Amino acid sequence: MQYISTRGGMAPQGFSDILLGGLASDGGLVVADSYPQIDAATLESWRALSYPQLAFEIISRFATDIPAADLKRLVDGAYTKTAFGTDEITPLTELEPGLHLLHLSNGPTLAFKDIAMQLLGQVFEYVLARRGESINIIGATSGDTGSAAEYAMRGKKGVNVFMLSPHGRMSPFQRAQMFSLQDANIHNLAVEGTFDDCQDIVKAINNDAAYKAQYKIGAVNSINWGRVVAQIVYYFRAYLKVAKRLGEEVDFVVPSGNFGNICAGHIARQMGLPVGKLVVATNENDVLDEFFRTGKYTVRGSSDTHATSSPSMDISKASNLERFVFDLIDRDTAKLKQLWHEVDTTGGFDLGSTPYFARMVGEFGFSSGRSTHADRLQTIRDAKARWNVIVDPHTADGIKVALESRRDGVAMVTLETALPAKFEATIVEALGITPPRPADLADLENRPQRSTVLPNDANRVKQYVATALS
Ligand SMILES: *Cc1c(COP(=O)(O)O)cnc(C)c1O
Repeated sequence: MQYISTRGGMAPQGFSDILLGGLASDGGLVVADSYPQIDAATLESWRALSYPQLAFEIISRFATDIPAADLKRLVDGAYTKTAFGTDEITPLTELEPGLHLLHLSNGPTLAFKDIAMQLLGQVFEYVLARRGESINIIGATSGDTGSAAEYAMRGKKGVNVFMLSPHGRMSPFQRAQMFSLQDANIHNLAVEGTFDDCQDIVKAINNDAAYKAQYKIGAVNSINWGRVVAQIVYYFRAYLKVAKRLGEEVDFVVPSGNFGNICAGHIARQMGLPVGKLVVATNENDVLDEFFRTGKYTVRGSSDTHATSSPSMDISKASNLERFVFDLIDRDTAKLKQLWHEVDTTGGFDLGSTPYFARMVGEFGFSSGRSTHADRLQTIRDAKARWNVIVDPHTADGIKVALESRRDGVAMVTLETALPAKFEATIVEALGITPPRPADLADLENRPQRSTVLPNDANRVKQYVATALS
């Protein structure tokens, strides 16, 4: 399997070559040159596989330059009961007949990002060792992504993580989750500024090509192809558990921000998995809902990006959408370049009056919905009352849209993207009770913490990194 850029300007490369990079060299996103096709007989033979066995079957079709025995060891190392609490890794529960919840949040940081990150931790270390290289990951986080990256990379050889967060602005739980890590290769930098300031510093460092090369600066952001591949696995797993008869359609609802999670669902569907509808659920930051309802993609400015009670979906542009649009326009790289030129110059594009719009919904199965803070509170209360489950506000976005989008006789799976314990304040607001927490995290806030406070100044961050690496 070879990898190409959505914008057509990158020579084909192998999985290990593109794994450690961010954007393709021409500014596009990296995509597989074709999708492996899974026929009905193969799908049937996968029914009895364990999670790591299924993950190996799927990931090995994409990571074709990693020897099978090595990949098997890496996958087995990532998907353990120790890391995810159960051998199932992603258990599925039925809320009521035909309505399922896929639990993706039982990893170390209680959000679905662990599923991809835990694999990346294994594969990064392997690829770096094989090449005799090292990487220094610099990122900015307001909570979820940073902690998932730190827990995946802790103690990994050849990898250092420098994670910038806004000083004094994370919840006590999130802060404790990150700052309590004692591994020497994990550096928590609390910047005296906002999340946007942290992101600006990361951007400034990445724009300094000489510094970037000298200190081997890298990233693991949501456009990383390895993350998308790892996420394909649980769509297959859920389908095999839910479908009573192979070939019948199953619909999925996915709480979305950067379009990473649901992009994996799109790829699973392109691989031949009988997914019916793929439903995008957004919060008040509804760039994606607008796109799938009208064909109009309009990125928002930071002043139009609302801080909501499902904060991990507060995005102004959906980085991974480019991968779907590439398929939608029949992989026409010239057309894609033109559309993203429009994004850069006019802030968006409109497919509403083109034949592509009908194909989005018809051939590709997409639809969407959105929720407000009031909807999330109501959904959290309803879920408790109807099914006696407590869901986090992001999953509540999904359930709200799932209930609106259900089709008669078609099973519907909502992806749970975080545990309620991570978003305590909203649960208390909705239910008046504190959500339960996994037992091993009971004392989290009392553990010793390590972090360095730095001024909002890219040069001071650069100095810190340089000193730490010397
Ligand atoms: C990251 C995240 C999302 C959004 O996922 P995308 O892949 O960006 O669409 C939703 N919920 C939670 C809890 C998250 O951490």
